Amino acid sequence: MSEVSAQAQRRRTFAIISHPDAGKTTLTEKLLLFGGAIQMAGSVKGRKAARHATSDWMKLEQERGISVTSSVMQFPYRDHVVNLLDTPGHADFGEDTYRVLTAVDSALMVIDVAKGVEERTIKLMEVCRLRDTPIMTFINKLDREGKEPIELLDEVESVLGIQCAPLTWPIGMGKRLKGVVHLLSGEVHLYEPGRNFTRQDSTIFPSIDSPGLEERIGAQALADLRDELELVQGASHPFDLERYLAGELTPVFFGSAVNNFGVQLLLDFFVKHAPSPGPRETTGREVAPTEDKLTGFVFKIQANMDPQHRDRVAFMRVCSGRFQAGMKAFHVRSGKDMKLANALTFMASDREIAESAWPGDVIGIHNHGTISIGDTFTEGEKLAFTGIPNFAPELFRRARLRDPLKLKQLQKGLAQLSEEGATQFFKPLLGNDLILGAVGVLQFDVVAYRLKAEYGVDAIFEQVSVATARWIHCDDEKKLEEFRDRNAANLAIDGAGELVYLAPTRVNLQLAQERAPGVEFRATREHA
Ligand code: GDP
Repeated sequence: MSEVSAQAQRRRTFAIISHPDAGKTTLTEKLLLFGGAIQMAGSVKGRKAARHATSDWMKLEQERGISVTSSVMQFPYRDHVVNLLDTPGHADFGEDTYRVLTAVDSALMVIDVAKGVEERTIKLMEVCRLRDTPIMTFINKLDREGKEPIELLDEVESVLGIQCAPLTWPIGMGKRLKGVVHLLSGEVHLYEPGRNFTRQDSTIFPSIDSPGLEERIGAQALADLRDELELVQGASHPFDLERYLAGELTPVFFGSAVNNFGVQLLLDFFVKHAPSPGPRETTGREVAPTEDKLTGFVFKIQANMDPQHRDRVAFMRVCSGRFQAGMKAFHVRSGKDMKLANALTFMASDREIAESAWPGDVIGIHNHGTISIGDTFTEGEKLAFTGIPNFAPELFRRARLRDPLKLKQLQKGLAQLSEEGATQFFKPLLGNDLILGAVGVLQFDVVAYRLKAEYGVDAIFEQVSVATARWIHCDDEKKLEEFRDRNAANLAIDGAGELVYLAPTRVNLQLAQERAPGVEFRATREHA
């Protein structure tokens, strides 16, 4: 086997999808702990605490070191190399969060046992659907009272439309929590609060029939468990690797992240079954991870908020071949070679200068604005990865200038910030408005700040009555023209020159779609 193949097969590149407060940060810390990256585990918490302590996001952004480092956390586990890509949540939720999901090979969904499937999880799951990303599920906070486990599986199946295959099953919950049963091995792992903090070292019984178990958990709990397991077997789906890999079925684990309980069972199963990097589509051909030559695409750009240092870090996911420090790579969009000097890798212990990176890894490339979201790098071949789209914004603002003479700068700034993925912008066919679109509200603050700091433009963002946007596509020229004429009042051109329908309400969007058969309304737009 070539070294590229061997390294690619070891990689597990994933992201966590969850609603705020479900336990993503806590679980991340525990995973890093198993990876031996204990130092980092502390700093994840530090970052979170800082975020809660201040409403001044600028300060946080200026601590660029921290936020860049925790964007990607790489740690070894058993024979594998795990790359955990951060999905910004809470206030920093935005289009970046969605785009991270285009750069992973699988996802881990964290659900709060008491709250069940929440709104943001539903949205993130929709994004995973676009590529049929395989999903594992961790039902968290079992040390608290919550919904019945069976009920939760039902909820996941009906709300998210994915079948559940429980891999562990809880014995009690809240104060009555005794442990979990592993449904494949039959092992019983006892919950012993206080013992699991550093490592998974709880007492393990080989099966529910093991002598001594009843004594530990009580006759009633054991009898209840037997009944429940019978029920579960009838009511749920068995684990099926292929259906998991196709994104049709999710293995489900129960546990308590804060008590580090049930986490190792999840991680062991994850490294064994979660997919390593697979082939990826491009405009020309499919690229296999095992190919010798380096390819990769940019899915995120982080700007330095300090006006004195206008450098940016472009996050590139390696898709094939080997990246080596200092190598030159072909930047397909500009048609130029670029030296990838001082590229960053993301070992969880510290951010370091990359020596080499392999398929599934992420490197950070310093640049001054030449690199855009969706850009492809190769060793000379002209191809472009697809599937790194813009997502229909859900929030809109009208940009108004305090100084009307700065219109040119405003347009230039917005064009560039939209290439970087900080915002999207739209020019309605009628009138002179400039409308910004975003997925998270923080994106507008970032844009306002950067317009001022980098382009000297003082802009105010006002509410505007747009509810959602769809990219319009129609092969029939005549039909498209007719559609344009009829709907001019709701149409706009985006930063890339594409036609977009800006719907004042969801109902309006539905009506417009019904009235225009043969015209496609797309919720994502591929980069040109
Ligand atoms: P995030 O917003 O998804 O990153 O959530 P956090 O990891 O910050 O967790 C949110 C809150 O839930 C914090 O106060 C955690 O201490 C708490 N938490 C996380 N896991 C558990 C758990 O297993 N049990 C309990 N009782 N609380 C938990």
